[in-house]
Amino acid sequence: MTVVTRFAPSPTGRLHVGNIRTALHNALFALKHGGRFLLRIDDTDLERSREEHVDAIHADLRWLGLHAHDFVRQSQRFATYEREFERLRDAGRVYACYETPEELDLRRKVLLGRGLPPVYERKPAGAPLPQGVAPHWRFKLDHGRSIEWDDLVRGHQKFDPALISDPVIRRADGSWLYLLPSVIDDIDLGITHVVRGEDHVSNSAVQLQMFEALGAVAPHFAHEALLVAAEGKLSKRLGSTGVDALRDAGIEAMALLSLLARLGTSQPVEAKRTLGELAEGFDFSTFGRAPAHFDLAEVEQLNAKLLHQLDYAEVADRLPNDIGEAEWLALRGNVAHLGEAAEWLRVIRGDIEVTEVVPDDKPLLAEAASAAAELDWDNDPWHALTAKLKDSTGRKGKALFLPLRRALTGRDAGPEMGPLVRLMGKDRAVSRFEKAGR
Ligand code: GLU
Repeated sequence: MTVVTRFAPSPTGRLHVGNIRTALHNALFALKHGGRFLLRIDDTDLERSREEHVDAIHADLRWLGLHAHDFVRQSQRFATYEREFERLRDAGRVYACYETPEELDLRRKVLLGRGLPPVYERKPAGAPLPQGVAPHWRFKLDHGRSIEWDDLVRGHQKFDPALISDPVIRRADGSWLYLLPSVIDDIDLGITHVVRGEDHVSNSAVQLQMFEALGAVAPHFAHEALLVAAEGKLSKRLGSTGVDALRDAGIEAMALLSLLARLGTSQPVEAKRTLGELAEGFDFSTFGRAPAHFDLAEVEQLNAKLLHQLDYAEVADRLPNDIGEAEWLALRGNVAHLGEAAEWLRVIRGDIEVTEVVPDDKPLLAEAASAAAELDWDNDPWHALTAKLKDSTGRKGKALFLPLRRALTGRDAGPEMGPLVRLMGKDRAVSRFEKAGR
């Protein structure tokens, strides 16, 4: 069996972290099993769906590197839905309903008031139908046996169909609700595994019966615990922060994906450089049932760790100001975001802000200027310089290194001085020491 998964967003807004996690897990599962990962745009709701969101979904997935093998849109498949709907209606599995929302609401309240489950009550056969009113349509659940499946995350699931309302699948204006089209598509596209959030568990129960009613074998299901923000405050933002915001904040796609691949599992979160590495360890049996806590600070940390490992070729196209390979290797250990490389580049190639020099340090820096002027700059000048100054001044440790670092970089901390000093060049170093030693 070739594994086929799908990511099925509704284009009613920007993709957020929760959507990305679902997309990623579908992609990783397919990748791990040498299968196919499809993108399905759920745009049956023509009023709420927007073309700009479809474009944004494509752009976001491209940035994330989650490339689908195939792409379908529900809005292009209405004829298929119509045909399958008629088949189900002819088989007595779909029926017309005429209640208004107010009637349904009232009935619900009555049932609840009597301590009964608020399940939709089918009209007895032969009940009079209102004239001149367009019906909406429900799928008739089979109450004959319980609905059961082995969920890849939640384990064995069991539902009593008699306690579930027959779901509405089509509105009176002919438009489709999500449930039936999704099943028809999953059958046509040969989806073998449906991976989605646990908010869909009760949908799966009724959809299982739809697969059967359409004569198909249902796919496997994996319903994942939902993502919640680590801090309550963030939760609002989490649902509304698009991935574009993370990208613009300088987050690497692989930093975000590294977290989302392992969050909520029993496996450690590690900064990985490729989807292949993430796919290798991907395993639903390691997923927990408790909500997973998403923390932006964790993404930031992974971002820094990832950047520290990245080769020049992996970032070259995104580096600011034509940073060269030697420069990147000297700087990468010190940047938490790619954009910060540009700031350090000023230290190497541009002008620094001069910091106040402690009077006691001036003689040291003046001496550093003349010593530096005589060094062979191609041959580890930093080591030679500090060794010489240590001998002549008797200074060591912080008392030696900090004034030198400040004079050369304008900062108290930063990348290793050896490579930085070589890249900066003799003239620049000498003149910075001179200025500071004056
Ligand atoms: N469009 C649905 C959603 O975004 C898809 C759910 C599914 O994966 O079947 O919730």
